[in-house]
Amino acid sequence: MSNIVFDFDKVNDSCIKCGKCIPTCTIHEVNPDEVTSPRGFLELLGAYKNGNLELDKNVKSIFESCFLCTNCVDVCPNDLPVDMLIEQVRNDIRKKFGLAWYKRAFFWLLRHRKIMDIAAKFGYVFQTCGFKMQEQKSSMQARFSLPMLKKGRLLPSATKKSFLNSHPDVIKNGGKGKIGIFIGCLANYAYTDIGKSLLEILKVLEIDVYLIKKQLCCGAPAYFTGDFDTVDYLAKHNIEYFEGFAELDAFIIPEATCSAMIKVDYAHYFHDQEEWKSRAEKLNPKIFMATEYLANSTKLKEILKTKNKLDMLVTYHDPCHARKMQGIYKEPRDLISENYMIKEMSDPNRCCGFGGVTIQAEKYDFALAAGQPKAAMIRDTKADIVSAECSACRMQIGNSMHQAKVDVIFKNPIELIAQALREGK
Ligand code: SF4
Ligand code: SF4
Repeated sequence: MSNIVFDFDKVNDSCIKCGKCIPTCTIHEVNPDEVTSPRGFLELLGAYKNGNLELDKNVKSIFESCFLCTNCVDVCPNDLPVDMLIEQVRNDIRKKFGLAWYKRAFFWLLRHRKIMDIAAKFGYVFQTCGFKMQEQKSSMQARFSLPMLKKGRLLPSATKKSFLNSHPDVIKNGGKGKIGIFIGCLANYAYTDIGKSLLEILKVLEIDVYLIKKQLCCGAPAYFTGDFDTVDYLAKHNIEYFEGFAELDAFIIPEATCSAMIKVDYAHYFHDQEEWKSRAEKLNPKIFMATEYLANSTKLKEILKTKNKLDMLVTYHDPCHARKMQGIYKEPRDLISENYMIKEMSDPNRCCGFGGVTIQAEKYDFALAAGQPKAAMIRDTKADIVSAECSACRMQIGNSMHQAKVDVIFKNPIELIAQALREGK
């Protein structure tokens, strides 16, 4: 990482105002104003750091409207890290204004796994009271409004038992390898078929699995919200915990946001804590997104080749945290295409419009607007299934399709691979 990264003045001076970022910007697309564009954000960040801009409620709202999709970074000729600077300024905003009660409660739960387990169980028991359940899609529709629970929106439903609490600590499959699974909060408490599918695949590959059950949230929701105290706690816990499993070949993560956080953003976050930065970087060679790891398995590809093609058309959405942050886009397609027909949507790389906790809770109209083009392009493919290795994308795309009445099933690529192993003759 270059030293320029957190020097707001230098970054703003390095912006040559070429405007290449603007047509790609998710917030500018739904709110076409120079102020809510990468170029506008950089101007404001420079003014703020020079003492010429006060962080008032209006400025707070502007900085909180960025989706952190990194589209701008991807096309910028000077690689200007707009997203990282906005994450930094959101920490200043949090220090000045504090956090809303529901964010404080949510981030506190992320630090306390046992209480989160109880809260999730409580949610499972009572979800039928406030929500209309949609069993087939593992989703529910809110009957009332609260932050994050807007009336009429589709949300993932909680499961009776979390993924981590449903399986033993170690699963011996024949010793052809030893891997740890980092599951991510949404897949642990809601989309539990992802973890189950990963276990099925690793069993076929005869690889022993360690559930590493004391893992905590990767910290991404807090990082994008500017709650750096929570990020510090979670990241240090996870690094230290992972270091205790030196015998493992790899840690695999079936979630783009969690793997980008651990593999890329931990080192960014620790830019001013040298020891922790180097510990995070030392772990990196062992951290893999799940399809990134599995795509290297000749054995898996050979077994998939022996299975029939399933009669289902799949379209694949590229999560921002997979393609732009980790360069992963070929791997899931290579694996899925062994047993499914793939039809690309017109812009698979377009951000789904999730944007993080603040956008979902306080700027939901932006999330709705940003989600509609993605729902329309999924409909245009006439696919039976839309896939992405990210449960935040799944939550956002599921709701966007629900609002647009697009009836397409969502599956993580790991679920598709396991289904092919199971059902392919
Ligand atoms: S990260 Fe995305 S939403 Fe934010 S300024 Fe860049 S392109 Fe726009
Ligand atoms: S692409 Fe980069 S250099 Fe060009 S206007 Fe956007 S941020 Fe500035």
